[in-house]
Amino acid sequence: MRYEPALDIEEKAREIVEKLKLLHIDTDNIACIRSFGSSSRAIARCHALGKVMQKAMKRKAFYALEFISERFDKMSEEDKIKTIIHELLHIPKSFGGGFKHHDYVTEKTVNKFYKKFIENES
Ligand SMILES: [Zn+2]
Repeated sequence: MRYEPALDIEEKAREIVEKLKLLHIDTDNIACIRSFGSSSRAIARCHALGKVMQKAMKRKAFYALEFISERFDKMSEEDKIKTIIHELLHIPKSFGGGFKHHDYVTEKTVNKFYKKFIENES
């Protein structure tokens, strides 16, 4: 496995956060990473610095959004944006180190946010 900072995705994620007013997401404490050579079938994953690590490290929560290059980078622009929205939606309102799960992060919710993002585009 190889990892690289994904500043292009990070910029997009910031734009999404602003346009969709996901103001609970502290963009200074998220990072986007590209991974290469993953055997997983996932397109992307959301990782968090959990509560115990936050206490031990004396710092607040941090989220890393991992994008598996082999799958993510060949998707259409629309699917890329939807994937970024999906991962951002896993971050809960508390920004506390936990996750929202797939009962909330559904295709329907993602599509709703995507539509809002597109309407905001021009
Ligand atoms: Zn998910």
